[in-house]
Amino acid sequence: MITGGCFCGDITYEFDGALRDARSCHCSRCRKAFSAQASAYALVDANTFRWLSGEHLLTSYLNADGYGVQFCSQCGSTLCGVFEKTVHGVTLGCVDGDPKVELARHIFVGSKASWETIAQGTPQYEEHVPVTT
Ligand SMILES: [Zn+2]
Ligand SMILES: [Zn+2]
Repeated sequence: MITGGCFCGDITYEFDGALRDARSCHCSRCRKAFSAQASAYALVDANTFRWLSGEHLLTSYLNADGYGVQFCSQCGSTLCGVFEKTVHGVTLGCVDGDPKVELARHIFVGSKASWETIAQGTPQYEEHVPVTT
């Protein structure tokens, strides 16, 4: 079981299974949404995800297509990504301990902040990962 929670500690969650597809997106939208140099995000199995406490404190910010993020209305931590209220991924910064996952790639490096230097050693892509068929 992997657990996580927000900065003030009132919202906590858990889910079973591994985090998948851990990635960091450096685009200007993710920088704003995650209040950081980039997103750090991984997918979860929605069927096993559940809120342990503080779900009533969650605020959602969704786009017109129903995709968005949920964050703590008290402390502002961005906790998860949702599609129409279903959690499909979590922000790695709010995961507790060692979730046994590493960022597998950096995307939208072409529009990263001027002040960021990305550590070498992990694949970097100017935009999305190219689709290879
Ligand atoms: Zn909080
Ligand atoms: Zn992005």
